[in-house]
Amino acid sequence: MSQSILDQATAMLPELQDLRRKLHQIPEFGLSLPKTLETVLGEISDLGEITLGKSITSAVLHIKGDLPGPTVLLRADMDALAVIENTGVNFASTNGYMHACGHDLHMAMGVGAAKVLASRKAELKGDVIIFFQPGEEGHHGADVMIEEDALIVSGSKPIRAYGLHVFSSYPLGMMGSRAGALMASAGDLLVTVSGSGGHGSMPWLSKDPISVLNEIMSAIPTMVTKRFNAFDPVIVNIGWVRAGDTATTNVIPETASFGATVRVFSDENANKLKLYTQELVSSIAEGFGLTASVEFTRATKVLINDEQAIASVEKVTAELFGPARYINLPAPIAGGEDFASILQEVPGAFVFMGACPPGVDHTSAATNHSNKAVFDDSVLGDGAALLATLAIEALS
Ligand SMILES: [Zn+2]
Repeated sequence: MSQSILDQATAMLPELQDLRRKLHQIPEFGLSLPKTLETVLGEISDLGEITLGKSITSAVLHIKGDLPGPTVLLRADMDALAVIENTGVNFASTNGYMHACGHDLHMAMGVGAAKVLASRKAELKGDVIIFFQPGEEGHHGADVMIEEDALIVSGSKPIRAYGLHVFSSYPLGMMGSRAGALMASAGDLLVTVSGSGGHGSMPWLSKDPISVLNEIMSAIPTMVTKRFNAFDPVIVNIGWVRAGDTATTNVIPETASFGATVRVFSDENANKLKLYTQELVSSIAEGFGLTASVEFTRATKVLINDEQAIASVEKVTAELFGPARYINLPAPIAGGEDFASILQEVPGAFVFMGACPPGVDHTSAATNHSNKAVFDDSVLGDGAALLATLAIEALS
């Protein structure tokens, strides 16, 4: 049966590539993707029941199997990035946004899987729901869909969830994942030190926030090394610093601040990091007679793959493509992904798929989110076959 699904998906490749390239030319940003949604709906509307999002441009396709059984969820994200494309491909975007993370491929794979599954309704032992989700790139699209009850459109919560992600700098057609933590919980740390301004010639009459901010910035990496287990990593990287005015050197400003991106791989470390940073920041500021505030927000949860779901991924990839096409990744990656929110509700797995163009060295290829990232869409048939087969396997 698996072989024939692959044949069916492979035969669809030219139409999936057309769809992907069409979507590539109309990239949209965030939670509102009207043109993208319209294009996707044009492909899936007759395949099952559609439930549209209430406050965002999401769609859930519900394919009902002819035989009774549980529900399985597949997910395709749809949003692009505010990146000006510079790939030189003949279907490049010109509207100031770019599908630089390959979500155009995810939509085409989701549509391909939907067509395969809809054509096999007679043998489906249950239902498949496919999430076409906006706002993956830090806009909480998955969380909004969950809040709007997208998980229960079939009448029961899915027993399994699967998602795929392409990478422009992974070898073409190679798949990889792992049981347990696969992707980080990403968050933001904002620190503001408040003092009192004055003349730079008499710093003892003011409370200089810049020198205190400097102490805090050097203390944080030390705190991370000394207070966290090195085998459950914590990454804190400062991305901006703001204080004073470049027009003058003799003014002590009133406040100084920085923002850092944070990556952790356990809830325990997220909670500890918040606590330890607050302790450290306020004690350093107090030590100099100033005050400081800390804001810590988490954009994504830790993405945790279910062990059984990963065993299914290994089995299905081996059956479809041979065992050499799947790598069991030795460690998680530090990127964040809101499919993590779905996996907190439904056990399942997220799988990476290489889409580095042939002839390009994947170790030096432009990575996802680069304005030069090129994704080879010859993988669309394989991706559609993998998603469809995982759904069928979970139902049988
Ligand atoms: Zn992405």
